[in-house]
Amino acid sequence: MSLHVRPNQPSLDYFWMPFTANRQFKAAPRLLSGAKGMYYTDIDGNTVLDGTSGLWCVNAGHGRTQIVEAVARQLSELDFAPTFQMGHPIVFQFAEKLAAIAPGGKDGGLDRVFFTGSGSESVDTALKIAIAYQRAIGQGTRTRVIGREKGYHGVGFGGISVGGLVNNRRVFPQIPADHMRHTLDMERNAFSRGLPAHGIELAEDLERLVALHGAETIAAVIVEPMAGSAGVILPPKGYLERLRAIADKHGILLIFDEVITGFGRLGTPFATDYFGVMPDLVTTAKGLTNGAIPMGAVFASRKVHDGLMTGPESQIELFHGYTYSGHPVACAAGLATLGIYAEEGLLTRGAELANYWQEALHSLKGLPHVADIRNLGLVGAIELRSRDGAPGARAYDVFVECFRKGLLIRVTGDIIALSPPLIIEKEQIGTLVSMIADTLKTTA
Ligand code: PMP
Repeated sequence: MSLHVRPNQPSLDYFWMPFTANRQFKAAPRLLSGAKGMYYTDIDGNTVLDGTSGLWCVNAGHGRTQIVEAVARQLSELDFAPTFQMGHPIVFQFAEKLAAIAPGGKDGGLDRVFFTGSGSESVDTALKIAIAYQRAIGQGTRTRVIGREKGYHGVGFGGISVGGLVNNRRVFPQIPADHMRHTLDMERNAFSRGLPAHGIELAEDLERLVALHGAETIAAVIVEPMAGSAGVILPPKGYLERLRAIADKHGILLIFDEVITGFGRLGTPFATDYFGVMPDLVTTAKGLTNGAIPMGAVFASRKVHDGLMTGPESQIELFHGYTYSGHPVACAAGLATLGIYAEEGLLTRGAELANYWQEALHSLKGLPHVADIRNLGLVGAIELRSRDGAPGARAYDVFVECFRKGLLIRVTGDIIALSPPLIIEKEQIGTLVSMIADTLKTTA
């Protein structure tokens, strides 16, 4: 039942909201009705600075005319066409444009693109490709996948199996999966600027799981190069390189889940570019279409792709795909998005702003309840000490008060996560940080 009914508010009873405490929200709703550039407006006409790119996805800012026009044009030209045993030009064009910026580049990098409808679908697709590839090369016993504690890989059954956020998997069955230890060194690494110095030895946990299960049972290991949803957990220096080496040693494929880090979040097109570590598969979504139309994509290496292109030519190589794989309207949104990224240099803008962003965030050190501050590229996290007996309550209060002041942040547990659109100006970074500072002083 909606308690705070405004004249312009719809009934809130019918939409079952995802990842939301529905009853709490509906008693005091926050409703956004418009967006342009760095700002939302809510239904009461208030302006809200977007500190989270919507949900880590609106990297080029809101309401971009090129995307609006491309989508409208495509809808009237070809609204839908299948990609099963059929095709349409724009899906091939988009894949080729993506290949040009793919991790490792066109011709040699991960330049084979499989389209999906979301990040969760990209993850399930990558896991299935990995298992199918192992089978195709005569390694059919490799059906287990390894993720990490606190990993978030969406909500498909594959994704929750490798995901390590306990609440997401507790009541659901899973495919065989196991989880590497991940976050032993958080306190030791507190207030690191950029990548933490300690914890490379955590990568050795992969060796432990290989010894436990046998390499011949493991198809792939999947990690977020930078874990976003768990509260911005950065990889210790050298960690991803070490994972790559261990995976290679045992014939295990390495998957980077770049649903958040893809498309410029770290100041490079992909996290693979930032870290200089090349996985076999990369999952993406979100920034792929600037969040405007739902879409995901999996980038595969030639080795993996070609490994599945054997057998008779008349045979379907991978029994997998979605009605909306390569949806023409999503492709149009994606092509327009790539155009904006290129024209405005947005895929590397995070690198230009990274130092400014870092110093601005770390100026919050010493404010009440601040336990840690983390940053990389244009991502940040402010971890608060939990209120006694009420985990998450303090950050939730900060979230509500920031929104009231006109700033959208995201909280998970007692961690504030920040990921503004890549078009943010220094002055807006200043506003964002001072709104958080004011809120911490008065609310936390
Ligand atoms: N993987 C990662 C790393 C993510 O951060 C997310 C979403 N935040 C997903 C997968 C799932 O994406 P979607 O919500 O589009 O299914």
